[in-house]
Amino acid sequence: MELQRTAVVKLSVPNDRRDDLKETMDTFRNAAQRFADRGWEGNNDGYVITSRSQLQPYLYDDIRDETGLHSDLCVAAVNHAAHALRGVVDRMKESEKVSKPVFTSNTTVYNTSAISYFDGYCTLAAYGSGRVKAEYVYPDDSIQAEYMESDEWDKQGAKLRYDQQTDTYYLHVSVKQERDDTQEEAEGRTVLGVDRNVDGYLAVTSSGAFIGNADLLNHKRREYERRRGNLQQTGTRSAHLTIQSIGDRFANWSENYLHNVSKEVVTEAVANGCKTIVLEDLENIREAVSNLSKFQQWAFRELSRKITYKAKAEGITVEVVNPAYTSQQCSHTECGFTHEDNRDGDEFVCQKCGKELHSDYNAARNIAARYLRNRRKSGSGGATNHLALKSGTVNGSGDFTPTVSRG
Ligand SMILES: [Zn+2]
Repeated sequence: MELQRTAVVKLSVPNDRRDDLKETMDTFRNAAQRFADRGWEGNNDGYVITSRSQLQPYLYDDIRDETGLHSDLCVAAVNHAAHALRGVVDRMKESEKVSKPVFTSNTTVYNTSAISYFDGYCTLAAYGSGRVKAEYVYPDDSIQAEYMESDEWDKQGAKLRYDQQTDTYYLHVSVKQERDDTQEEAEGRTVLGVDRNVDGYLAVTSSGAFIGNADLLNHKRREYERRRGNLQQTGTRSAHLTIQSIGDRFANWSENYLHNVSKEVVTEAVANGCKTIVLEDLENIREAVSNLSKFQQWAFRELSRKITYKAKAEGITVEVVNPAYTSQQCSHTECGFTHEDNRDGDEFVCQKCGKELHSDYNAARNIAARYLRNRRKSGSGGATNHLALKSGTVNGSGDFTPTVSRG
């Protein structure tokens, strides 16, 4: 089975090449916009053009001549526009009100011809004197390091994003891995810890999968509430009917979104050969949950309901643990130091042993480990269970078995 991930890597870009990269990004965005504009105008039959191969001939040569944009980036710009236009047409088919795609974000899409990956750095096609060489910035034992450096992950295209506030470039690299059944068997009866959130990633697993976007869910909800509010003020019968229909559509969308997220969680458990998925016990965090909006509470519960239901179909059980301090405790098996200063937003840095990892990933590891410890204490044979980690497994006694690398 194929596992897919996105490695998010901070880049160190040499000062004398920052302008080249920014100019490339701006030109890419303008090119993508021109393609989108042309696609939106439509073909001879008046249909929006959503196919890359149909869209490309209209403008490709002009854009290349006028801007000198790298040919692969120009192709990526057509793809980017065609993808956005397909999204618009999909929503049109659901009789949503749509408008032309407008690209405002600081993003450049790199296919594998426009980016090359090396040990510790990449080179990116850009304006100026040759490719830009940018070093990766991440801790050695981070998930990002694993995705970028391990031969087991096959690196594909990437999106380069520029964060204006911090003046920082981030590379979002798609990576994938083919898992064979032998490996699933070898890892045996592992336990998958899952940390759920109401912002950032919806679910993060102890095996290092970052799944779903809670911010997108919240954003869609606010959009829906805003539209509903406007229509309520109108007060007409047709406004009332529209409220019902956008309400139904939002309910369908969010149901479907959580369906996909829960499916990915269960797929992750299957891929790691896990027989148990461990979640936080909501009863123990009732107070924290009651501070959330009704919608977020619903999403939180709905996600566990859907995970439980889908896991059952795969013969996987779902268990819960008390989540107290799972976000403050160091998940390094030889440490376990708990302190509130360990966590700062997304970053977890143990104040005792110095281990650095993503906060949610740290919490997910603790959730799985706590379940195994409880099992061991209660004498129900937890030591034969294993916690699924990114590069190996840890059993209930804390013994680490690295994943056997395949040649
Ligand atoms: Zn520690």
